[in-house]
Amino acid sequence: MTRPIQAIVHTSALVNNLLVVRQAAPSAKILAVVKANGYGHGLLRVAKALEECDGFAVLSLEEAVRLREAGFAQTILLLEGVFEETELAVVAEHQLNIVVHTQEQIEWLKRAWSPVRINVFLKLNTGMNRLGFAADQFLQALAALQTCSVLGRITLMTHFACADEAAGVREQYARFNLLTQALALPSCLSNSAALLRNPETHGAWVRPGIMLYGASPFVEQSAAELGLQAAMSVVSKVIAVQRVKAGERVGYGNAYIAESDKRIGVVACGYADGYPRHAGSGTPILVDGVRTQTLGRVSMDMLYADLTPLPSADVGSAVTLWGENLPVEEVARAAGTISYELLCARADRVPVIEA
Ligand SMILES: *Cc1c(COP(=O)(O)O)cnc(C)c1O
Repeated sequence: MTRPIQAIVHTSALVNNLLVVRQAAPSAKILAVVKANGYGHGLLRVAKALEECDGFAVLSLEEAVRLREAGFAQTILLLEGVFEETELAVVAEHQLNIVVHTQEQIEWLKRAWSPVRINVFLKLNTGMNRLGFAADQFLQALAALQTCSVLGRITLMTHFACADEAAGVREQYARFNLLTQALALPSCLSNSAALLRNPETHGAWVRPGIMLYGASPFVEQSAAELGLQAAMSVVSKVIAVQRVKAGERVGYGNAYIAESDKRIGVVACGYADGYPRHAGSGTPILVDGVRTQTLGRVSMDMLYADLTPLPSADVGSAVTLWGENLPVEEVARAAGTISYELLCARADRVPVIEA
């Protein structure tokens, strides 16, 4: 028998979640963010499930070309633009759209020649201070861009730092408007959190990522409350059962000491599979569909589950690490991280099956 761990990708959940996006932003076009191998779900698998969207956003030229060569005719946007001048020829050849966020990228475009026009998403830094032109450089950048003979359509873009938090988008959105409202150009602002909470930011294009994969961007609101369905379930099995007496120690560093006699299941899933090593004792886990908790430290290939509430669980019992009936956000929170990191961390050795 092969090792029992698998990631089940629920393509119907992806389809459902795209509908939730459509309903939340009915007048905007949808740029589905499929970077990082579709947040760990598989680039082409996700793109196929989401083929009703209007475009895809990726990081690298390789991902963009893979999508084109697989036959996707939608808009494809490179979220950080090109990293080298020579990439522009491939951009034109495959009719990709690019973010432009530096003066260097503008210089490259000025020198470029192609019979095909290149559509640009010009990025403004409205306060996140990651990518984009500052307020005092922006109009000059726009003017320089408009002199490029290869220039196609321009869309104005920014990215919010706190759309999922109490601080919200107000300040950045106001700055964006102040700079751009006289220009009458299409805009692209909203990540999942802003898309759901700030309809005023929708503009021409929205850029949802995490919500398409069925996780909530918010701490205070669950995915289920938002109508989202988990697109990935990571499942495995109990491969051994240990009986420990009160006071006995479990796992590396003896990190867990049994407070009473216990049955403990050893599960075939560890940090080399992408499970977070920082998830300590008490992280939720499902065994035979029943919610219990992990105990002790996560090893490279295994972790421990408390079988105390499950007297009939045994070797071969089904385990869900996250997914259906166990939101990935909850596991992430127990590990001091966010759902994004867990989904993206799925290791290659965890095979994907579609359901
Ligand atoms: C990743 C990313 C998104 C998607 O964000 P979510 O929070 O996953 O919806 C949108 N825009 C940019 C620029 C990104 O890098």
